[in-house]
Amino acid sequence: MTTRVLVTGAGGFIGHHLVTYLKKLGYWVRGVDLKEPEFTKTDADEFEILDLRRWDACLQATRNVDQVYALAADMGGMGFISKFHAQILHNNTLINFHTLDAARLNGVKRYLYTSSACVYPEYKQTEAAVTPLKEEDAYPAQPQDAYGWEKLVTERLCLRYNEEYDIQTHIVRFHNIFGENGTWEGGREKAPAALCRKIAKAKLSGNHNIDIWGDGLQTRSFCHVDDCTFGIQKLMESDFTDPVNLGQDRMVTINELADIIARAAGIEVGKTHIEGPQGVRGRNSDNTLLKNTLKWEPEISLEAGLKRTYDWIEAQVVKSQGDLA
Ligand code: NAD
Repeated sequence: MTTRVLVTGAGGFIGHHLVTYLKKLGYWVRGVDLKEPEFTKTDADEFEILDLRRWDACLQATRNVDQVYALAADMGGMGFISKFHAQILHNNTLINFHTLDAARLNGVKRYLYTSSACVYPEYKQTEAAVTPLKEEDAYPAQPQDAYGWEKLVTERLCLRYNEEYDIQTHIVRFHNIFGENGTWEGGREKAPAALCRKIAKAKLSGNHNIDIWGDGLQTRSFCHVDDCTFGIQKLMESDFTDPVNLGQDRMVTINELADIIARAAGIEVGKTHIEGPQGVRGRNSDNTLLKNTLKWEPEISLEAGLKRTYDWIEAQVVKSQGDLA
């Protein structure tokens, strides 16, 4: 029988890609979000506009499905999550507590929660040359922002539901997922998309200089969305229920990230370092558990993933400039 799946946050970046991937694998898919996907039409069999902060909406969303991929979240890049702590903690707690409990009441068998590397404590991420973060490093807990605290509490809820109720929960901690068809302007975009936009604008204007928040020496790892969707479907079908990292373990500085994107654009850029939120100083993923558990780790190189993303964002910038003309 065809497996019936709900993807929450299916109008968002990863959710939209996940729906397409699950459809290719032959699942029946319902997507739910506050909005339809912005850039291309959904491939979902059914798409419902629902506010998952509401209990009744969660009961409706989780009806008649075998599996739930819980991706809905009020979120964005550093500029967003370092500013709107109350809104993020309030909205995401309501979304996640209600969705998980509604799924349990509706008899959902498997549930995958999308957590984040933002759960890791600030005191382990004070140096740019950071030691890659292992799953057990999350405790003693001290995430930097409310966004990370909420993720950690919902992880605990999933672990308890898995132990005490008849629902198998899975928890993935993403490390900076990027790719095509994601938010690239407006304040919620993340660093790779923001840099692609700045570099596309620099290239098109002929002024090859961009602004970078901070000194650009802060470090991160970045993972393409196709690796992400592949990995979470594998995790959902596994019997592994503890939190696991999903990301690349190649760490780069934000300055290096900008240079890789500039090469994809075929230009060199000058960098002006300005004040701006930077998050923790350094962060990288330790993929030992991921490799042991799924016998797999992300495969798309940063250069290849950023080239595809840059080309897509440059096309969006060209289109938006055309719309303004
Ligand atoms: P996104 O913002 O593109 O997608 C989230 C979607 O949730 C949006 O479309 C939004 O409209 C929807 N949503 C928000 N509030 C809602 C509500 N009340 N009811 C229904 N839908 C609602 O984000 P994304 O990058 O696709 O992230 C997906 C998940 O992965 C999120 O849980 C996020 O916290 C997590 N995550 C993402 C990254 C990353 O690098 N993109 C990193 C760590 C964790």
